[in-house]
Amino acid sequence: MQNQQKIRVAVRIRPLLDHEKRQGHLNSRIDCNGQEVIIKEERNKKSYKFDHVLPETASQDQVFKSCEIDQLVQSVIEGYHVTVFAYGQTGSGKTFTMEGLRDDEGIAIKPDGIIPKTVHSLFNKIKQNALQKDFSVYCSYLQIYNEKIYDLLGETTKTSYNVQANGLKMRWNVRDQFVVENLFVYQCKSAEEVIQLFKLGSRNRITASHKLNFQSSRSHSIFEIKIESIDLKNPDYFITSKLELVDLAGSERISITGTEGRQAKESIEINKSLMTLRQVIAILSDTNNKTIPPYRDSKLTCLLKQSIGGNCFCLMIACIAPLDTFYDENVSTLQYATKAAYITNIPVKNDDPKLKIINDLKQQINSLKLELSKANEHIEFLSNIVQKKDNNQNMNNVQTRSNFDNMNNVQTRSNFDNLLQNQQKLLEVESSDEDANKFEYTQFNDRLIDSINMVRELLLSNKEMREREEQINQKCESMYREIQFLQKENFELRERLGDPDQQRESPQKRPSTIKKNTMMVEEPGFLPEQMTQFQRNFQKDFRDTPNKDYKDSQMQMTNRNIRAHSQRTQGRQLALISNYQQNFEEVQQDEMTNFGRRSLYQKQLK
Ligand code: ADP
Ligand code: MG
Repeated sequence: MQNQQKIRVAVRIRPLLDHEKRQGHLNSRIDCNGQEVIIKEERNKKSYKFDHVLPETASQDQVFKSCEIDQLVQSVIEGYHVTVFAYGQTGSGKTFTMEGLRDDEGIAIKPDGIIPKTVHSLFNKIKQNALQKDFSVYCSYLQIYNEKIYDLLGETTKTSYNVQANGLKMRWNVRDQFVVENLFVYQCKSAEEVIQLFKLGSRNRITASHKLNFQSSRSHSIFEIKIESIDLKNPDYFITSKLELVDLAGSERISITGTEGRQAKESIEINKSLMTLRQVIAILSDTNNKTIPPYRDSKLTCLLKQSIGGNCFCLMIACIAPLDTFYDENVSTLQYATKAAYITNIPVKNDDPKLKIINDLKQQINSLKLELSKANEHIEFLSNIVQKKDNNQNMNNVQTRSNFDNMNNVQTRSNFDNLLQNQQKLLEVESSDEDANKFEYTQFNDRLIDSINMVRELLLSNKEMREREEQINQKCESMYREIQFLQKENFELRERLGDPDQQRESPQKRPSTIKKNTMMVEEPGFLPEQMTQFQRNFQKDFRDTPNKDYKDSQMQMTNRNIRAHSQRTQGRQLALISNYQQNFEEVQQDEMTNFGRRSLYQKQLK
């Protein structure tokens, strides 16, 4: 069972601001108690329960601690993806929670939000793990406005905004899911460097909102910190994980802000992202709903695909501005926060796929080594058997030779010495075994050798048979060609002879041939009718000759010669034709049997 984790949800209720109090705004409807947020209605109360509820009095430190963000940072260090996102209407305190206090211009003046605290926590943990792992930290910062992606750490000149006007492209890959193309990524060596980059990006977010003519709260921003770690003891062990810190655009409805025209269209686009996000949340939170979540319908949901219903640890911070006038918005926020709490993620450690391949290959090598050593043992066993049998035979042969002592050949003598030594060794080995086992063992060996020889013989004879079959087929082909040639020759000769039967007889049918391994009969063909120039010349010469006796003698002689030749060729041809005729008849017979069967089946079917 994989490690399933529900999305953790925290609700933060901000205090009423001074100017709101001055304007006479009140909070008479929202209260909290422990893990519960209570909404007071006219007659009854509604209560929503969450993982963490942070009241108006909660400080930035308390938020960081209560939401256990330190543990999330630890998960990133261990190789898991983590996402923290703030959700709520404009002015509910999302940016305050994520970044810290900002001045009226939107410039951060107190960096005590989740992002700076998380960055410090991350570098502290990197320091603690420095002896075991080598870490590299990379940052990127983007915003999505009007369904376009802009790089907040890219170039910020006016022309670059024009270049970026169409937004950066997003591409999909199997491992990282959706990634933004050409996004600036900076390697950072310290927490200060990361925070500096983050501040720069946030300032660019405000500048961009002026240049592109929108309020910064109308864009979604994603600050991504990517961590690569290499295990110092095992450098093959390489992990990449990412920490995404997301500040969403305000979730308020158009009617409240009263925007119109181009701004209304923008609101629709912004709300399109949020609307898709809500759809995704609604589908994923309902276990009975089998609809595929429409991640691809907006850039935001594409980029948050892994975070919501994916493989990340995820924390949602729902922000509430508890003014009575925002009652509907707050109920809506609480409802989506409740739904999000039902979503299950399956966090996965992001081991390097290369490492997985290396480990698989190592395993394969080990199993192959094992197989090889087994095969070697087997070969050794078999060669021992063969050697033993050879030695026995040689020994017998040598023992029966009476004139061995007279041999002068040194090589033969040394061979014999070796043989004796081998035999001696074998005898020694054998003598240590039980007699009964020895007998069984030799019997088994003999049987094994016999079977191997038998298989070898079978293989050889099989090969011979195949070669013979090939030869027969070739012979058949040449026979057929010969028949054709003879038929043609015969036809010409009979024509030269002026055979009156020639006209009446139908041309000789081509004998049917039987294809190799099939019972198909080729279509019968006809020999070509042709008269050669030679035949025409001969007949012309013969007609033109005035001497009748000469003509007669010539005629007789020619007739004799031609008949003799024709008989000779016909004799050879008949033998071949009858051979093929036989085959043809057999095939016809088969065809008829098949035909008979077929009509019988047809009758039965009727
Ligand atoms: P959002 O990002 O949701 O639009 P902001 O973070 O900009 O809202 O907050 C709106 C205003 O409320 C800011 O002036 C901010 O300083 C103030 N504010 C938000 N949350 C708190 C809080 N918990 N305590 C004090 N002031 C807050
Ligand atoms: Mg904001």
